[in-house]
Amino acid sequence: MDIPRIFNVTESAHRIHNPFTDAKLAALGAALRLEPETRILDLGSGSGEMLCTWARDYKIVGTGVDMSSLFSEQAKLRAQELGVEKRVSFIHSDAAGYVADEKCDVAACVGATWIGGGVAGTIDLLKKSLKDNGIILVGEPYWRQLPETEEIAKKCFANSVSDFLMLPELIEHFQKLRYDVVEMVLADQEGWDRYEAAKWLTMRRWLKANPNDDFAKEVRAELDAAPKRHVKYTREYLGWGVFALMPR
Ligand code: SAH
Repeated sequence: MDIPRIFNVTESAHRIHNPFTDAKLAALGAALRLEPETRILDLGSGSGEMLCTWARDYKIVGTGVDMSSLFSEQAKLRAQELGVEKRVSFIHSDAAGYVADEKCDVAACVGATWIGGGVAGTIDLLKKSLKDNGIILVGEPYWRQLPETEEIAKKCFANSVSDFLMLPELIEHFQKLRYDVVEMVLADQEGWDRYEAAKWLTMRRWLKANPNDDFAKEVRAELDAAPKRHVKYTREYLGWGVFALMPR
C-alpha cells in the first residue's frame, strides 16, 4: 500500500508537504494555545513535522497516520532526531475511516481531505476521534482568484474550478456544517514557492541519480513543466490555509 510514486520522488526531501513554512507551522501551534499532554491525531501526517515540532515545542502527544511508507519512515526518524519518539507515533496505513482508540483534543487533516471524500466528509471522520470541546484542524486550498477557465483550474492541482471555494465561501461552508471557525493561519506565495520550488531541485537530483529508471521520462516532463506552471498558475490562483474548527 502506498501513494503514487511521483509524490515519493518529488517530495522526498520535504519536511512539510504543503505551502506552510516552519514559521507558519509554529504560528499555528502558538495560535492553538496548546497545553502539555494535549492529544493530537493527524490523518495524512506526511513526514510528521507538525506532530514532532509541536511535541518538542509544546509537549503535545500524538499519533500520525499516513499511506506513504517513505514519509512514515521519515516521520519516525524526525521524532528520534528531535527526541520526541516517546510522545509521538506514526502508523503507515490508509487513514480513510481511521478512528482513534482514545479521543483527542485536536483532530487534524492538513492537506489531505480526499481521505474523507472532501472537506465535509473529513470533518465528520475527524469528529469521531474528537473529545467534547476539542478542535478540528483542516488544511485546505482555496482560490485567491477564481480561474477563468477549467484549463487553469487543472494547472492548480484541481480537476475542476468547483473543487475549491473562494476563502469567504470556504469559511461559510465550515459554518454551514455547524462549526465555529476559531482560528486560522494562511499560507502565502513564498510558502507556495518553498513547497513547489523545492520539488524542482529534488527532481533534478533524482534524474541525475536514476537516468535509466522507467520513471525518468515522467519526472523529466514534470521538471520541464513545473516551474512555469507554478509561477503562472498555482502561485497566483491558489491559496491555502489551516482552519481551526469547534463543533457548535
Ligand atoms: N499533513 C502533512 C502531509 C500533507 S500531503 C504535511 O502537512 O506535511 C498529503 C499526505 O497525505 C501525504 O503524506 C500522503 O502520503 C498522505 N495520504 C494520501 N492519501 C492518504 C490516505 N488515504 N491515507 C493516509 N494518508 C494519505
